[in-house]
Amino acid sequence: MFESLSERLGGVFDRLTKQGALTEADVLTALREVRVALLEADVSLPVARDFIKRVQEKATGSAVTKSITPGQMVVKFVHDELVRVLQGDGQADALKIDNPPATILMVGLQGSGKTTTTAKLAKRLKDRAGKRVLMASLDTNRPAAMEQLAILGGQIGVDTLPIVKGESAVQIAKRAKTQASLGGYDVLFLDTAGRLHIDEVLMDEVQSVRDIAQPREVLLVVDGLTGQDAVNVASEFDGKVGISGVVLTRMDGDGRGGAALSMRAVTGKPIRFVGLGEKMDAIETFDAERVAGRILG
Ligand code: GDP
Repeated sequence: MFESLSERLGGVFDRLTKQGALTEADVLTALREVRVALLEADVSLPVARDFIKRVQEKATGSAVTKSITPGQMVVKFVHDELVRVLQGDGQADALKIDNPPATILMVGLQGSGKTTTTAKLAKRLKDRAGKRVLMASLDTNRPAAMEQLAILGGQIGVDTLPIVKGESAVQIAKRAKTQASLGGYDVLFLDTAGRLHIDEVLMDEVQSVRDIAQPREVLLVVDGLTGQDAVNVASEFDGKVGISGVVLTRMDGDGRGGAALSMRAVTGKPIRFVGLGEKMDAIETFDAERVAGRILG
């Protein structure tokens, strides 16, 4: 995901660390190159600007120019700033699934990987935490999407709410809540309908479902390959329905990584998980240190 950014930064830092003594001008030149690399990775402009400003404040003092390993110090400042921008003001909490049945509302655009991610998270909670999980698809427009969730449920051994034709999303949500309580489930995933673009009908539906379902978490699934668009989608969903976190999918792909870097700073919402492939186990919790490490190689 971060290959090209990683390569670009690697080049800048190689030169810097090989140089030995550094003047303030050397540091500024290097940081300008870092800024270009961030922008090329599709990091949003204000985020890139702020990033460089913060590193510059630390790196242009005499501590760096007088240090024996000035290049490495600059690299460390960049690393620390990467972690800060990825993580925000704190580590993302684990999913709130106490007080069973805890409802997790999955929202996002069509094709973002919402259904796949729902099943991946359900499997994870079942396998790792021994939770009893129920999944329900609310995608009344696309019977195929409802069937897809049922098929995935069968594959991973997680129950899905039986499909009843003709129900509205809100009716399904109500039935799912009842079933989750009566059936003694710990967690209920509601996989809402997606659209190709954000529109009012979609948002109204998600809002109504949210009001009925009273979820503990509203997780937005966005395609990590879509760069700044992913961040815009997150801002819009957060403004309209309120989200508690983001799952970035397709982080196994060859995108530039800007979405991951801008998400927290622009939306204030934590990235909770990253999708790393189509398989049911291809999901990880988001770990800012690990991602920063990956970027800096
Ligand atoms: P939805 O319309 O948002 O529910 O999207 P789906 O869950 O149906 O996913 C659309 C396609 O993206 C499917 O082919 C998934 O296998 C694929 N997909 C989902 N998440 C990931 C991921 O993290 N990496 C990759 N490579 N593919 C993914």
